[in-house]
Parts: sequence; C-alpha cells; structure tokens
Amino acid sequence: MDHDIVISGGGIAGLAAAAAFGNAGFDVLCVDPAPPVTDRDAEGADLRSTAFLQPARDFLEAAGLWQRLEAHAMPLQIMRIVDAGGDRPEARVTRDFNAGDISDRPFGWNLPNWLLRREFTAHLDGMARVTYRPGTATTSLFTRAAEARVGLSDGTRVRTRLVIAADGRNSPMRQAAGIGVHTTRFGQKALAFAVTHPIPHENVSTEVHRTGGPFTLVPLPDHQGRPSSAVVWMEQGPRAQELLEMDAPAFEAAMTERSAHVLGPLTLASRRTIWPIISQEATSLYGERLALVAEAAHVMPPIGAQGLNMSLKDVSALLDLATARPDALGDADMLASYHRRRIVDIRARIAGIKALNLTSMASTPALRDLRAKGIEALHGLTPVRTALMQLGLGAAGR
Ligand SMILES: Cc1cc2nc3c(=O)[nH]c(=O)nc-3n(C[C@H](O)[C@H](O)[C@H](O)COP(=O)(O)OP(=O)(O)OC[C@H]3O[C@@H](n4cnc5c(N)ncnc54)[C@H](O)[C@@H]3O)c2cc1C
Repeated sequence: MDHDIVISGGGIAGLAAAAAFGNAGFDVLCVDPAPPVTDRDAEGADLRSTAFLQPARDFLEAAGLWQRLEAHAMPLQIMRIVDAGGDRPEARVTRDFNAGDISDRPFGWNLPNWLLRREFTAHLDGMARVTYRPGTATTSLFTRAAEARVGLSDGTRVRTRLVIAADGRNSPMRQAAGIGVHTTRFGQKALAFAVTHPIPHENVSTEVHRTGGPFTLVPLPDHQGRPSSAVVWMEQGPRAQELLEMDAPAFEAAMTERSAHVLGPLTLASRRTIWPIISQEATSLYGERLALVAEAAHVMPPIGAQGLNMSLKDVSALLDLATARPDALGDADMLASYHRRRIVDIRARIAGIKALNLTSMASTPALRDLRAKGIEALHGLTPVRTALMQLGLGAAGR
C-alpha cells in the first residue's frame, strides 16, 4: 500500500483532515490541483472568514493546529440579530445572544480563510507522515473490497486503504463513485469581503435582516489601525452581480445603508468575491473505500457559521473510528458507522439553515413583520434562547 489515506482536496477541510490523521500516526497523501493562496491581497485569495465554534476549536487543538491560529483569532462574544425590514433600512428590532449566558467561553473564534491556508500548509510541511502535493488532482477512482486505486493528474496511480473526498461541492471522487446529490437552488449569491468602520465591533457578530438574505458582519483584527470586519452579504443573484460590479463609492454607500449603519459608514478593505448559494446533500456519505466530508457531502447557505464546523465534525467522526480500530481503516463496517454517526446531524442542520434562509429572504412587508416578531419572541423565551445558543455552539448532535 502506498498510503493509509489519500485526501482528494486541500481546501480548509482537506488540510485539517491531513493534519489530524497525520497527527494520529496515519500515512497521508493530500492532493489539490490549486496552489494555496496564502496572501490576503493576492489574486484568488479566499476572502471569506470562518467562525470556529467550540467543538471545532477543540478538534483543531487536538490536531496541533490551534496553537498556530490562536494569536490571529478574534473571539465572538455576542451574536446580535437585527431586523431592518421596515419601510426604511433602519434597525427596528435588535436582540443580543451573549455567550456568557451559557458558558465561560466565547461562541467562537473568527479567522480569515487565506490565513488558515497559510498556517495549515506551513504546519503540514513539518509533518513527517503527511505528503501535501498542491498542483496535483485526483483523476480516477478504482476500488475493491481491500483497497482503492486513485489516478493522479501526473499520470501516476496510488494504492490506499481509504480515500477521503474533501474536493468540494462538485467532488470528482464522489462523482467517480456514482454517489448522487439532492440540490436546492435559492437564486441567491453571497458577496464576501472585508471592511473597516469607525465604530469598534467589540467582539459582536451582527446579522442584519431586511430582504434578499442576511448581511453579516463578523469581527476581524484591526486593519491598518482601524476596526475591521468580514462581511457576507447575501442577495438575489442579479442584484449581487450588480453590487459586485459597482464602483467602490457607490458600493460603500449601498452596503452602509444595508448594514442599517450599525457600525457607522463602512469602507471597503479588500476585493469583493462572489459565491453561489445552494443547499446540497449527498445521498450517501460513503462508497467502497471512500468517505465524503465537508462540501463533497453537504453544502448550505452561509448562515450561523455551520459549513466548516460541520466539516470538522465529519473529520472528527472519521478519526474517532480510525483510531478506535486502525486495522479496519476504510473497511465497509467503518464507513457504514461513519454514515450513521453523521447523517442525522447533517440532515437536521441543512433543513434548519434552509428554513432560516427562506425567512431571511422574505420580501413582502407582512413576512418581514412576522420575522421581526419571531426574533423578539424567540429571544424573549429564556429556554428557547439557551437552546438556540447551544445549537449555535454545535452542541446538538455531538
Ligand atoms: C460566503 C461564505 C462564507 C462562509 N462562512 C463560513 C463560516 O463562517 N463558518 C463556517 O463554518 N463555514 C463557512 N462557510 C462554509 C465553508 O466555507 C465551507 O464549508 C468550506 O470552505 C468547505 O470547504 P471544503 O474544503 O469542503 O471545500 P473547498 O474550499 O471548495 O475545497 C475543495 C478543494 O478541492 C479541490 N479539488 C477540486 N477538484 C479536485 C480534484 N480532482 N483533486 C483534488 N482536489 C480537488 C479544490 O481545488 C479545492 O481546494 C462559508 C461559505 C461561504 C460561501
């Protein structure tokens, strides 16, 4: 056997999986056709940020990765939900969910994705059991009960006990195994970029709802001496495209209005990137000698910081099974157990986020009023508020 594990995909999920399995003593090959872009201002840099919730942080700590990230992470102490769905784009209902009500730790810690790539790839460089090969893609998959053979774009073929597909929403390995998906399209796109603002964020993550989808500001460290946040702005596709192409002053005016002025006038502090919004789940999380993780298995709108946190739960579940019985790595029982452990949580979260997205898209005044009332009502009921916060912390389904 050439490697215990081949990971197809070196996105954040694939790189984290490589570090975690290497750390547990497995021999790992991780390949990705794209070179990692590790500089914020370079073309192709991933300008999204990821809010890691508590279980994800615990996982990264155990994998030896958190130690590299801690100094760059912004703690998220309060999640603020603002409804600005009235006639004018002004905050009419504001409710805070404070992590201090349920735990002595923050909800999560936010980090820019380009920085995660930089730190994860640097970490892998120092790992003797991990080979990371950017510039190489997986091209074919042939499996038997005892092993998988993976074709690579350099013309070679490697033999392995387990293939982990972390190769994104169009996962070539998932397709090679003939595993289908259920996809929902919302007609929305998300713009992701960074801003600076005069009012400090004070570790508050703010979600402003009006129409088209949420506008979310997540704290980042100061940028050039000014308070800074990462923004995800969801809108109907044509409107999002228009915003992407607007000149900077017009865009800044539009986003400041859409943010209901919660942090004062917003200044654009990076390029704008655009992401199609879909919800998607694979019909099965495994095939012969193959496990699907992260977006290869599930995609959802970027609401409530679920996507990558769920991805790390996938990797964590696989790792638990692999370390419990290393000799059974990649066999049919292990992979069926993996599917059973994860599928209920994945389906529940996809359904929940889909519902939240449809609520946030509400365009008629009546529906918007209903949403504002809903936010007030949910916040007013202490047990419901606590349960929602625990769900946000990733506690449910663990
Ligand atoms: C705007 C936005 C904001 C988000 N914010 C958050 C957040 O705050 N918190 C959170 O938890 N989640 C968030 N998410 C979700 C999160 O970004 C995704 O869940 C996560 O990036 C998925 O990672 P991935 O590794 O599965 O996919 P990708 O990042 O798409 O990585 C897949 C990789 O596979 C590679 N690949 C493709 N084909 C091959 C091949 N043949 N061989 C090998 N490799 C291949 C690609 O080059 C790519 O590098 C957000 C998503 C969006 C769109």
